[in-house]
Amino acid sequence: MNNSVFRFAVPENEPVHDFAPGSPSRALLKQELERMSGTVVDIPLIIGGREIRTGKLTNVVMPSDHWSALSWVERASVMLKAAELLSKRYRYAINAATMLGQGKNAYQAEIDAACEVIDFLRYNVYYASQIYKDQPNSPLDHLNRLEYRPLEGFVFTVSPFNFTAISSNLNTAVALMGNTTVWKPATTSLLSSYVLMQVFMEAGVPPGVINFVPGSGRMISEIVLSHPMFAGLHFTGSNATFNALWQAIAANLPKYRSYPRIVGETGGKGFVFVHASADPQEVATALVRGGFEYQGQKCSAASRAYIPASMWPEVQRLVGGMLGRIKVGDVRDFSNFVNAVIDEASFTNIMSYIDRAKASPDAQIVFGGTGDKSKGYFVQPTVIKVTNPKFLTMEEEIFGPVLTIYVYDAAKYEETLRVCDQTSPYALTGAVFSKDRYAYVEACRILRYAAGNFYINDKPTGAMVGMQPFGGARGSGTNDKAGGPLNLLRWISPRTIKETFAPARDFEYPFLREA
Ligand code: NAD
Repeated sequence: MNNSVFRFAVPENEPVHDFAPGSPSRALLKQELERMSGTVVDIPLIIGGREIRTGKLTNVVMPSDHWSALSWVERASVMLKAAELLSKRYRYAINAATMLGQGKNAYQAEIDAACEVIDFLRYNVYYASQIYKDQPNSPLDHLNRLEYRPLEGFVFTVSPFNFTAISSNLNTAVALMGNTTVWKPATTSLLSSYVLMQVFMEAGVPPGVINFVPGSGRMISEIVLSHPMFAGLHFTGSNATFNALWQAIAANLPKYRSYPRIVGETGGKGFVFVHASADPQEVATALVRGGFEYQGQKCSAASRAYIPASMWPEVQRLVGGMLGRIKVGDVRDFSNFVNAVIDEASFTNIMSYIDRAKASPDAQIVFGGTGDKSKGYFVQPTVIKVTNPKFLTMEEEIFGPVLTIYVYDAAKYEETLRVCDQTSPYALTGAVFSKDRYAYVEACRILRYAAGNFYINDKPTGAMVGMQPFGGARGSGTNDKAGGPLNLLRWISPRTIKETFAPARDFEYPFLREA
C-alpha cells in the first residue's frame, strides 16, 4: 500500500442542484427541512473522539501522532470519502442545517454547504498530491529529499457563521496535511458545524484529529493560545477578532515551541466600479445579486458602487424594477430571494447604519431602509446614495443587505478609481464593468492592491474552488488563498534530507596545493 506514488486527477466541480419545481432534489430538501426544523439537537463538545456535555470547559488534549504518521494517501482517502458522503448521503442534511441555522435560501445553501465543501475536499487532495511530488534535484553522489512534515503542534481553527464551506475547509485543509485541529465553531452556525463533524467522523477522521469545541471564543482562545504546542491559527471572521487573536499570540510568543503560522481571512468592502461604456442591465443584475444574495452577509458582497452620472438614472430604474420583484421571508418558502439576517445583534447593527444614513445630509435612501424583527430579523434590501465618497457606509463593513452608491462624473474616471482605492481599509473583492478594454486595464492597474479577488464584468461574489482561489490583503487578511495550494503550504514545515553516498575522507581542497 505504501510504496506507490499516487496521482490524483484534477477534480470536476460538484454539479449544483437547481431545486426547480417538480425536481427530486426539491422534494428531498423540503422533506429534510421539515424533519430538521421539528427536531431539537443536543450538541456536545467532541475532544479526542469523546462527547463531552459537562457545560464546562476542559483543558485541550494533545492529539495523537498517529494521523501524521499515516501515509498521506490514507488521509486523502478519508477526505474523499467525506466529500462523497456529503455529495450523496448527507447532501440534504447539510443543506437543511445551513438553511435553518444560518438563514440561507436553498440555492445559497447548495452552492456553499454541499458544493463548495465537496470541492474544497476534492481539490485539496489534488493540490496536496502536486505538493508532495515536488522534490529537489539530486546529483549522482548524493540524494536530496524534502519531507513534508506537518507542524509540530496543533492548529487552532476558528470559523465564522456565514459559510459552511469555510468551517469545513479551515479544518480539513489543515488535517489533510497531517495536522490536528482544535475547532471553535461560531455559535450561530453550530447546527451545520455539528453535521460536518459527524460526517468527518463517519468518513474516518480518527479521534483527536479534529476536536470540536463550541463555546465562548474568548474563553477557549485564552486556554488554547497559551499552550506551548500551539503551532498555527486558521481563522476566518471579522477583522477585530483576528486582531485580538494575533495580539494574544504575540503576547504568548515566548511560550511556544515554534513560531506559529497565522492565517486569517477577514472582512471586506466589495466594490463595483462602472465605466461609462458598461451595459446598465448587466450592472443592475450584478448589484442586486452581489449586494443582496444571502442578505449581503458575504465577505465578498458588493457593498459600494461607483456609477457614472450619465448611467445612474437607468441603473436606478433597473435596480428598482428588480427589487420590486424580490420577496423577503422564511427560507422554507422557496420564493424568497432574501431571508433573515443572522441574529438580533446583526439586525441592530445594520439598522444603525441605515439610521445614520437617514440622518445625514450626505446620504439619501433610494430603496428599502426598513427592517422588522417581530417574526425574524428581516431587513429590506437597501440602497443608499451618497454625495461624499468617503461616507461611512462606503468605508465600513456592514454585513447586511445595504449597498451604497456614489455617482461620479464620467470625465473623472481615473481620479474616482483612486478614490475607490483609498476609501476602505479592506481589500478583498472588487469588480469593474466596462466594454472598453483600455478602461478596465486602467482599473486593474489603479486598483492593483484594492482587491485580492478582482472581477471584470461580473459580480464580486461567487468564487469557486479550483477556479478563483480566494482571499484579500490589507485589512482583509493574510491572503493565503483558500481553495488552492498556497493555503496548504502554510500547514507544512518541510525537512530537507541530504544523504551522501561516498563521504569525503580528507579535509583539504585542491586550491590549497602550491602546484
Ligand atoms: P466574528 O469575528 O464575529 O466571529 C468569527 C469567529 O470568531 C466565531 O467563531 C466567533 O465565535 C469567534 N470569536 C469571536 N470573538 C472571539 C474572541 N475574542 N476570541 C476567540 N474567538 C472569537 O465573525 P462572524 O460574524 O462569524 O463572521 C463575519 C465576518 O467574517 C465578516 O467580517 C466577514 O467579512 C468575515 N468573513 C471573511 C471571509 C474571507 O474569506 N475573507 C469569509 C467569510 C467571512
